[in-house]
Amino acid sequence: MAEKVIGAAELTRLLQASAEKGLLVAPVAEEGIVTYRRVGSAEEVSLDFGLATVPPKEHFLPQTEELYRYDRTSGRAVVTPPLPPAPAVLFGVRPCDVRGVLALDPVFEGRFGDAYWRQKREATTIVALSCTQVRPECFCAAFGGGPTDGMGADLLLTAVGDGYYAEVLSDKGRALAEEYAALFREDGLEEARKGKEALAARLGAELASRVDPGGVYEKLGGMFSHPYWEALARKCLGCGICTFLCPTCHCFDIVDEPGAPGTGKRLRCWDSCMFTEFTLHTSGHNPRPGKKERVRNRFMHKLRYHRDRYGLDGCVGCGRCVAKCPVNLDIRRVITDVKEVR
Ligand code: SF4
Ligand code: SF4
Repeated sequence: MAEKVIGAAELTRLLQASAEKGLLVAPVAEEGIVTYRRVGSAEEVSLDFGLATVPPKEHFLPQTEELYRYDRTSGRAVVTPPLPPAPAVLFGVRPCDVRGVLALDPVFEGRFGDAYWRQKREATTIVALSCTQVRPECFCAAFGGGPTDGMGADLLLTAVGDGYYAEVLSDKGRALAEEYAALFREDGLEEARKGKEALAARLGAELASRVDPGGVYEKLGGMFSHPYWEALARKCLGCGICTFLCPTCHCFDIVDEPGAPGTGKRLRCWDSCMFTEFTLHTSGHNPRPGKKERVRNRFMHKLRYHRDRYGLDGCVGCGRCVAKCPVNLDIRRVITDVKEVR
């Protein structure tokens, strides 16, 4: 791993150069909402944010994604796939959100390899940005993460002094650092490294005792029929906000959008397991007919099923669902409850 230092002005120049090449996907603040999108100028990039409102999973799994266009007017179906994704530098991803992408990799790259996901992953260099503060709802450490953890990133930047300590963590990160070698320096490296260590220690101490999911995975194995889910579900509105904003949720629907007669587009759109129709079969049977089943499924997915299937936790402790649920249905409380209920 190579370490470097980059000044704030030099980082702006790197972002500007990437933006001018059409590569830069970065956090943008609009009316208090921070989302990642392709920008044409470094001026559009927000560096002053805690955690983006919508996680960067949207870059890899867009809210609405065209899978292909079809045309049956000639008497046979002609299918035209979309152009390959444009290369991207996905900048300013917080460590928990990088882990969210890692949690989704085996979903889309496993047995049923998804070319749409894989092509975007291959075409994207992830530049992560360490957190500078711990928000009240953060609990990434509970699931092995950390505010300055670079796991899964290609390049990790940590704000220290008037610049950034830069850690090159992969070949893609090395290629980016080499392309802009003139903007990085090595003087002040020791001081920058110590600055990151001090930040990591301070933020780590704030997170240390927030929530302990130890034993919850095991306990949930025997709780499928527990009355706890009924009581918990009474509160839920079924709005789906928690799932849309979760960096590891990935439910989707496939819909056809007709165009001129005989033509149209096939789209993949975000969906939510909190909605009744998500599991409604064409027969009319619904394996998750009530809120109890849907709420149980959500927490089981986060705290047990994802690990069963992929060996990874389904929660990265970003706290979005904690902050945004309109009825304060708090996964940290669920973790505590599960440990206590008999
Ligand atoms: S379940 Fe909540 S805290 Fe966990 S990753 Fe999803 S949104 Fe973040
Ligand atoms: S955000 Fe809260 S109320 Fe809405 S579906 Fe999720 S748990 Fe239920």
